[in-house]
Amino acid sequence: MATMKAAIAPMKAAQIPKPGGDFEIVEREIPKPGAGQVLIKVQACGICHSDVLTKEGAWPGIQYPRVPGHEVAGTIDELGANVSEWKKGQRVGVGWHGGQDNTCPSCRRGDFRNCRNLKIPGISYDGGYQQYMVAPVEALVAIPESLSDVEAAPLLCAGITTYNALRHSGALPGDLVAVQGIGGLGHLGIQFANKSGYKVAAIGRGPENAGLAKKLGASVYIDSKATNAAEELQKLGGAQVILATAPSSKAMSELINGLGPNGKLLVIGATFDPIEVSPIQLITGSRTIQGWASGTPADSEDTLRFAELTGVRPMIETYPLEKAGEAYARMLSGKAEFRVVLTM
Ligand SMILES: [Zn+2]
Ligand SMILES: [Zn+2]
Repeated sequence: MATMKAAIAPMKAAQIPKPGGDFEIVEREIPKPGAGQVLIKVQACGICHSDVLTKEGAWPGIQYPRVPGHEVAGTIDELGANVSEWKKGQRVGVGWHGGQDNTCPSCRRGDFRNCRNLKIPGISYDGGYQQYMVAPVEALVAIPESLSDVEAAPLLCAGITTYNALRHSGALPGDLVAVQGIGGLGHLGIQFANKSGYKVAAIGRGPENAGLAKKLGASVYIDSKATNAAEELQKLGGAQVILATAPSSKAMSELINGLGPNGKLLVIGATFDPIEVSPIQLITGSRTIQGWASGTPADSEDTLRFAELTGVRPMIETYPLEKAGEAYARMLSGKAEFRVVLTM
């Protein structure tokens, strides 16, 4: 009697074997969705600077091997048990918010964004650097038809972070909003700020991005190498909000004096170095410094809808999944314009 060999359905994945290890392209069995989960056929996955956490093992408790990726766009391939709100074939994405526990004090107050046990795709479970991934339904984001997969993917981390931070910043249409850094986050921040009706001052180092910043919607370009950017902002009346996207605590510290009365330094560029500020700087003009992290899948849907309505789009470079290591190095080099996206 012939023995039945278990049917395996292989797929390709780019995994990190151990903290600090190099990317490996491996064949894996297509995973099965459990109860309350779906299987996603991944079409595109953005590479985010936060993928360093998985690559280098900088997040406590990561299990290896691990597939990074939290800017995922694709279609639902299979529904797990007890999934009723989503359909097979539906276009969905998964961003930084990969699931909440629904029981912690933040969740009990409906503040899922700040869940104490937040799950993050590519950290808590395998993410989107693979042809198929499993995600819980509370992480799913519906993608509108007019957005392609490669356009939608970066909006699920870089996009939502800038858009959600700005719309909760307290700035009103017509206010001066400065965007520090013209990179992966900043090039989206300028567009979202412009389409939100703010007067946008883009702050870059050197003259080379001036033309691009204007094209993206900045009405003023400030070269922080050639001028004192804080003084330039004061000449314009002082910024209501400075969205600090470039991961340089020194550059952020130098901008605080550019805030107007009740102005806010809104920090989304992640670094470990301290920001330097004196109490006098904060007391004078009642200034504040606030950090902001991403948002929920519902916030992501708002971000995609706003992008659809206003034409905000990420600028991307695409690489095939097999070149994940090269694509990751390109992201790290800081030379990509501006988001690197893997295609499956
Ligand atoms: Zn990210
Ligand atoms: Zn929670």
